[in-house]
Amino acid sequence: MYLCSRLSRLYGGLLSRPIGRNAQPVWRPLYRSLMLSSQRKIPEFSSFVARTNTCGELRSSHIGQEVTLCGWIQYRRQNIFIVLRDCHGLVQVVIPQDKSATSMKKILCEAPVESVVKVTGTVISRPPGQVNPKMPTGEIEIKVKTAELLNACKKLPFEIKDFVKKTEALRLQYRYLDLRSSQMQYNLRLRSQMVMKMREYLCNLHGFVDIETPTLFKRTPGGAKEFLVPCREPGKFYSLPQSPQQFKQLLMIGGLDRYFQVARCYRDEGSRPDRQPEFTQIDIEMSFVDQTGIQRLIEGLLQYSWPGDKDPIVIPFPSMTFAEALATYGTDKPDTRFGMKIVDTSDIFRNTEIRFLQDALTKPQGTVKAMCVCQGAKYLNRKDIEFIRKFAADHFNQEVLPIFLKANKNWNSPVTKFITEEQRWQLTRLMEIQDEDMVLLTAGQHKKACSLLGKLRLECADLLEMRGVVLRDPTLFSFLWVVDFPLFLPKEENPTELESAHHPFTAPHPSDIHLLYTEPTKVRSQHYDLVLNGSEIGGGSIRIHDAELQHYILAALLKEDVNLLSHLLQALDHGAPPHGGIALGLDRLICLVTGAPNIRDVIAFPKSFRGYDLMSSAPDFVPSEELKHYHIQVSWPTDSEAEKKCIESVTPPRKLSF
Ligand code: ASP
Repeated sequence: MYLCSRLSRLYGGLLSRPIGRNAQPVWRPLYRSLMLSSQRKIPEFSSFVARTNTCGELRSSHIGQEVTLCGWIQYRRQNIFIVLRDCHGLVQVVIPQDKSATSMKKILCEAPVESVVKVTGTVISRPPGQVNPKMPTGEIEIKVKTAELLNACKKLPFEIKDFVKKTEALRLQYRYLDLRSSQMQYNLRLRSQMVMKMREYLCNLHGFVDIETPTLFKRTPGGAKEFLVPCREPGKFYSLPQSPQQFKQLLMIGGLDRYFQVARCYRDEGSRPDRQPEFTQIDIEMSFVDQTGIQRLIEGLLQYSWPGDKDPIVIPFPSMTFAEALATYGTDKPDTRFGMKIVDTSDIFRNTEIRFLQDALTKPQGTVKAMCVCQGAKYLNRKDIEFIRKFAADHFNQEVLPIFLKANKNWNSPVTKFITEEQRWQLTRLMEIQDEDMVLLTAGQHKKACSLLGKLRLECADLLEMRGVVLRDPTLFSFLWVVDFPLFLPKEENPTELESAHHPFTAPHPSDIHLLYTEPTKVRSQHYDLVLNGSEIGGGSIRIHDAELQHYILAALLKEDVNLLSHLLQALDHGAPPHGGIALGLDRLICLVTGAPNIRDVIAFPKSFRGYDLMSSAPDFVPSEELKHYHIQVSWPTDSEAEKKCIESVTPPRKLSF
C-alpha cells in the first residue's frame, strides 16, 4: 500500500509537468521514477559501483548516514556549497572551511564546473530557513569528509543548463555533453522504459520471440534507396536492409509463429526533417492472423507501454478508409485533433458564374472542394491570404479563393457578387460556417484539390496557432487506423507504370483479387497504417503467402526482377502459413510521446538533417589504398560539387587529395 502511493507520488511528481515543445524538465529523480513505474519494485541503483547512494535519492530519513556519492559539479556557490548532479538528481554538498580540510577544499573549489568527483560525507539536515522546497533533496545536505577529483572538465563549448540555448549543430558535435541535459536524459529513459514494456507485453504476455535478423543483406527491389556495403569480392555488395521484411516472413515460414524485434533499418532517402538514414522499428510478424488481429495487438501494446504520466489511451482506435482520409483531410495521415474538414461542394456550384470553378466542372473528373477555416476571417490577414494563394500556385499550380464571413454576416470575397443567395445558404448549411470563419474554395481533379486543401489545412492551423488559437492540444494523442489503401499507385516518375503503395508482399483485399487481372489500379490492399496526431507511426499488411500470386504481382504488374526474390518465392512454395505484420517507427512514436521538437531529440547519437554524424564527421573519406581491397575506385566530382555537399560539415571541406 505504502509502496503504491509512494510510486504514484514519485512517478506523478516527475512526469506530470507539461512536456511541451519548449518545456524544460527540472531535475528530479527521474530514472528511479521511470523504473519504479515500469517494474513496480525498487531497482538497486548503487549495486556494483563506487557510490553508496545516488544524488537524487537522499531525504531527511537518511540524516546521520555516511554516504559516498559520485557526480558532476553542477555549480558552486561562495566556495562553500557545491551542487552535485547525477542522472537521479541534485544534492547540495557543504565544503568544510576548517584548516584540516584545506586539501579537500582545494579539490572541490578548483575543479571546474562539470568535473566529475567522488565525495564521502554525512547526510545532515539543512539549517533552519535554508530548506529548498523546490529540490527533492532540499531538506538535507552532505557534510563532506573526503573528496576525490575523478576527472576535471576542460572549457565547455556550452553550459550544461537547460535554459542555455545552443545550436543543434553544436549539440550534435558535442553530443556526449548534450546528453547530460535533463531533457535528453528524460527522452532516452522514457524510450527505454517504453521498449521494456513492449518486450514484456509481446514476449511475456503474448508469446512473441525476439529474433535478430541480418543487417548485411541483398538488394531488395522497389522501395527506398539502400545503402551498399562493399565486400572483398570484386563488384559485389551487400545492402543494408530497409526493414527486416523478408526475414520476418521467412521466420513465419520457418514456423516461428510470432516474431518481434527492435530492429535497425536503413534507408538512403536524403534529407527530410522527420527521417533518419538509420532508424528503429518495433517489427512484428504473426502467423494465422488477420488485419483485426494485428490492430488489436498493437492497441494493446501501446496501451500497455504508454507512460503513466499521460492520460491513458482509449482503445480500440478509430479507423478510416484511405479514400475517406483523402476526401476529408486531403492526406493519408490525417491529424484528427481538429476539424476543418474538406467538403465536396461541386453540386452547389454546378451553375456557377465563377470562371475557374466553371472550367473545372466542365472537365470529366472536375470537382469543387471547400474547407472552412474556423475564425479565419478574424485571425488571418491579407498577407496570410497572399501566402495561401502563392502556396497553392507554387506547389499545386492551383487557384484558391477565400470567402470571409464577417461578424456582420456579410460575405467578403473577390467573387461575392457571383455567389447567389441559394449557394450561400447551401454552403453555410453543408459546411456549418459561422460568423468570422473563412472558406477556401478550390477546383480541379479530386485528388489534387483534396491534397491541396489538406496541406492548406495544416498551414492555416499553424497560422491560427501563431495568433493564439488552440487547435491541436499538445497533451492529446489522437490515434487513427487508415485502411483499404490501393494495392498499387502510378509511379511518380512514370505514371503509366505501377508501384506498390506499401510493399510488393502486401496481399490484395480478398474481394478485389479478380481485379488484379483486369483493373489492377482498382485493387484495394490489406495494408493498414497507424497514424498519431497527423504522423504515420506504423504500417503493415497481411502478406501474400501464395508463390504464384506473388510471382504474378512482381513480374507482371510491378515489372520487378523476380530473380532478386527467388529465395522468398521458393520459400512461399514450401508450406507458408498465412501471415501478416506491422512495424512501428519507434523514433517518431517517442518523439510524439515526449513532445520533442524533432526525432533527433529522442535518439542518442542521431545523424544531422543531412545525414552527417557531426561528432565524428562520418561519412568520411577512405584512402584509395584501402579501397583497393574492395576493388573500388572513386570517380571524384568537381571541386564545386564536392564543396556544395560539404557545407554542413563542421570541419572545413577537406581537399580531395587521395
Ligand atoms: N516492413 C514494413 C515497413 O518497414 C512494415 C511491414 O509491412 O510490416 O514499412
